[in-house]
Amino acid sequence: MFRSIGMVLPVFVLVLSSCSRRTQRAVDPGKLQAVIGPDTARIVQAIRELDTAGVPHFWVDINLHFVAHREYGTFRRGAPGNEDVTNGLHWARLLINHANWALDSLGRSPSSLRDFEGDAHYNYRLYSDAGNLRDSFGGIWFWEPDQWVEFPYGERVLNVVLVDDGKRMLNGSACGFDFCNSVKLYGAWHNVRFEGKFGWWAFASLLNHETGHVFGLCHSFYCGNECAGIDLDPAVECHSGPCFDDCGGPNNGSCNNWLANSNNMMGYNANQNALTPCQWQRLIGNMCRSKAFYLQKRTAEILR
Ligand SMILES: [Zn+2]
Repeated sequence: MFRSIGMVLPVFVLVLSSCSRRTQRAVDPGKLQAVIGPDTARIVQAIRELDTAGVPHFWVDINLHFVAHREYGTFRRGAPGNEDVTNGLHWARLLINHANWALDSLGRSPSSLRDFEGDAHYNYRLYSDAGNLRDSFGGIWFWEPDQWVEFPYGERVLNVVLVDDGKRMLNGSACGFDFCNSVKLYGAWHNVRFEGKFGWWAFASLLNHETGHVFGLCHSFYCGNECAGIDLDPAVECHSGPCFDDCGGPNNGSCNNWLANSNNMMGYNANQNALTPCQWQRLIGNMCRSKAFYLQKRTAEILR
């Protein structure tokens, strides 16, 4: 039950304003390109028809940042092979693996009119540049208390910032809805340190929820949801009220998505492992149109 309570926080809490950093670092545009190209019309048609064989898969290149709080701390830098959850390197891989597993196997939501089941067509991977001598842990960064948190690869990656404040135990925020490049997850270390109920699996679904916002989706209980009236009913998702009039803001208790028996990725619920066909079409269509440098088209060799 605390899951829904824990996530009642603004999507737009910005402490590390990554979007404002977007112009700070030069990247090599020659190596990076949007999927838009000669086959765009064919891809758009495939998305519209849910002909998934014709829809690209994407890599979302990420970095993870463990930000230590002077009082609340953060994960330790254990040896790479150390499989203790207090080791940030190990926990990070558990997080990414579980988030990718969820994206590979989208499920059903009893509250949806239809479900898009199976492969979401995108996954996360850590990005690292071998030439960056500061990048000791392959795209995983540890920041000391009060240290200025940098995003060393700028726009090239989507930065996942993990921080504790002693209050928020399973909360997230996203930088926006248009392929900006940071999300924040609160409370992971607290749950490990005090053996709380939210493990990496809970933060994996939270990660998918927050990146869902970054890729353009609103809350399932948002009155103006992009799929309202198509295959999603915000009133059903809200359960305890008509709907909530904010795409990504906190619902302030006016909706109870948990009691709606929803599994929707964009709701506040325990599973967050379901998307409707309309939601998926919106999300993957946005990816196809996006020019975000951290989106990379997966090649056929990788897919085999
Ligand atoms: Zn949200």
